[in-house]
Amino acid sequence: MLMQNYARVGLGFKCGKGSVLWDLNGEDYIDFASGIGVCSLGHAHKKLAKTISKQAHTLLHTSNIYKIKPQEELADKISRLLGSPYYLFFANSGAEANECAIKLARKYGNSFENKKYEIITLGNSFHGRTIATLKLTGQEKFHPNDFAPYPDAFKFFNSIDEIIENIGENTVAVMVELVQGEGGINPLKKEEIQKLAKVLKEKNLLFITDEVQCGIYRTGEFATSKLYDVEPDIITFAKGLGGGVAIGACASRQDIFKPGDHGSTFGGNFLASSAGICVLNELEKMKKTGKLDITIAKFTKKLDNIVDLFPDIFEKRVGLGLMQGLVLKDPQNLSKIFNKALEHRVLVLKSGKNTVRFLPPLNINKKEIKQGFKRLEMAISDL
Ligand SMILES: *Cc1c(COP(=O)(O)O)cnc(C)c1O
Repeated sequence: MLMQNYARVGLGFKCGKGSVLWDLNGEDYIDFASGIGVCSLGHAHKKLAKTISKQAHTLLHTSNIYKIKPQEELADKISRLLGSPYYLFFANSGAEANECAIKLARKYGNSFENKKYEIITLGNSFHGRTIATLKLTGQEKFHPNDFAPYPDAFKFFNSIDEIIENIGENTVAVMVELVQGEGGINPLKKEEIQKLAKVLKEKNLLFITDEVQCGIYRTGEFATSKLYDVEPDIITFAKGLGGGVAIGACASRQDIFKPGDHGSTFGGNFLASSAGICVLNELEKMKKTGKLDITIAKFTKKLDNIVDLFPDIFEKRVGLGLMQGLVLKDPQNLSKIFNKALEHRVLVLKSGKNTVRFLPPLNINKKEIKQGFKRLEMAISDL
């Protein structure tokens, strides 16, 4: 039996292809969620399947005490896509990538005369489900007493200006999602982020971006920090990087750890690293040929159209690239739309209290977009 930690819907799938999934009765669903932004190449992608299969027939796992060539290759690739040298650590999830960032920041804090250790995040943020990343998450509802006590020295404030005002003696780093994913689709303001980055740089403190959800071309660039014209000291990635294979990555401009400081049994093994390389190669191609930008434009237009069609239901569209949300006028409609969409066989996500969230596969095609929005329109009409 399974633990009851998830609010599951009574539906499961047996196979998929591109942005279509088939349930156990053989009914097709259009996938505007890709897990939660995980299946960046959709389902049953030929090249990714071939890469994984080939790797399984060669070598899946050794240990991080040995050299792992695809891991080194993936690190170099990420560094190249970021446009400047970064040191990489590979984990298996977003929370673990953030745990690595926390440890890097705490160790970096030793370099000051009086050790600095406090990390500040934003209200409405989400950074993971481990005990430390729960506390890092800037929403009180994620710190219930059930799991207390929590680790110390994590603070959150509700605006970038407030964060800047509250950088104190003990502060070592500020971590933000450039586009908040769980707390409503909320792209932060570019000028504010640039100001924050500048202030932190002047104080020799670390600027960390959690790009677990918004990274890996989700917002149209490899890293969302590129869109914001900032060079974070540390960036974390996960969801879309393995196309469905579990992998997390923490990229740091400084090489802070010494041997023994951190580790992971599975992190960056042959399977995960080779999947990551394949995903990035494919996405890089889509970006270079202009295909990704065309898809973004099409999808965005369809979303704007939904807002125009249902002005009583939606307030506005929010988001960047293929990380989008439709903000509802009445939060009560969130679960209703989620369920109606399921009935009409199109998969969407919820975000925050009042936002319908869209994280489709980045290679979703014209036909799938058209079909998905047709179903969504019917679902909303049927409210
Ligand atoms: C999903 C998410 C995480 C946690 O990732 P897991 O792989 O579930 O541990 C952390 N930060 C952000 C921004 C996320 O969206």
